[in-house]
Amino acid sequence: MITFKYNCPHCGTENSGFEVRAHYENTGYSNRTIFSILAICNTCCRSIISDIPISDNITNFKKALSSRDNYYNLMDALSHSYVYNINFSPKNQLQTEIPENLPDSVIDELNTAEDLYIQVKAKPHFIKASGNAYRTTLERALCELAENDDRAKLNKRIEKLFETGKLTEGLKDFALRIRALSSEASHTYNDFSLDDLKELRIFTQLFLRYTFTLPAMIPNNSKENVSENKN
Ligand SMILES: [Zn+2]
Repeated sequence: MITFKYNCPHCGTENSGFEVRAHYENTGYSNRTIFSILAICNTCCRSIISDIPISDNITNFKKALSSRDNYYNLMDALSHSYVYNINFSPKNQLQTEIPENLPDSVIDELNTAEDLYIQVKAKPHFIKASGNAYRTTLERALCELAENDDRAKLNKRIEKLFETGKLTEGLKDFALRIRALSSEASHTYNDFSLDDLKELRIFTQLFLRYTFTLPAMIPNNSKENVSENKN
């Protein structure tokens, strides 16, 4: 039996254990043998496939593939002189998304939310924890926008940012909407679904892009022009 660790493209589990369950040996080449293998994720039971060309120590690999009693690591089962990269299909591994130009404290919270989010298919009990982490991300972001005036309650802080012109009316409504969605996450155990989490994630990502990423991309002189025009 051959096993190995791999980031699962289906459930998002990092370094999930995989077992090679089936293989086909193609000997129709003069200088190598191509093994087509199918491996199963131990977390979600879904499969990935790959073609592995091998030119030496083929016997070792076949022994590892057919063994029922011993476990071999994939790279150990291959020759040490193995030079090919192994590409598995499908390749659509879930990735965390961190927009540019965020304050470090916001990145810390968002990393937690994203790490939990990409694993929720395998671990549905992460849905609520991930929702709470997006809420904390928003709180942190609003704190940064309010220059760390974190004494006020979140709703009041959002209103105050609107009054002082740091949030447009649209963004204020947006923030209150995220706030409502995420407080459902912290109070309701059964009603917060994966779809709610996906919506909350999109809102949070967009909010961060509007409030931090985009303003940082505007050159300083055009910001001055805007304030001059206001005056
Ligand atoms: Zn998986």
